[in-house]
Amino acid sequence: MSSIPRFWRNMKSRYNLIGKRCTRCGEIYFPPRNFCTNCRRRGELEEVQLSGRGEVVSYTVIRTPPEGFERQAPYVMALVKLDEGVMVTTQIVDVSPEEVEIGMRVESVFRKIQEDGEAGLIYYGFKFKPVKEE
Ligand SMILES: [Zn+2]
Repeated sequence: MSSIPRFWRNMKSRYNLIGKRCTRCGEIYFPPRNFCTNCRRRGELEEVQLSGRGEVVSYTVIRTPPEGFERQAPYVMALVKLDEGVMVTTQIVDVSPEEVEIGMRVESVFRKIQEDGEAGLIYYGFKFKPVKEE
């Protein structure tokens, strides 16, 4: 695995929801980290592909967004508990704020996060959208 170039490893984690799992206690970390807080040095972390599905635990409607996000307001930021048990703070898209509710099933999508008009830079990353049917 160590022969995989760094840029490709980064790409992989951008297009898939990759976390780290402790091989000793099974704890899953997302975003990935290099250290198990349960096992400390005795733990060993390996990459794990997450399902990208979970449910809304709590949410906030952002009506006065930070600079650079004005065009997206109002939008919903939510705490999502993935099926693997990991909590993720994320934006919920493809839904009006009134429709978001606690316990709603959501899945990850790869979307534009922010557009920098001056430099023409566009940032991509994960957001979540409602699961239509399961
Ligand atoms: Zn552990």
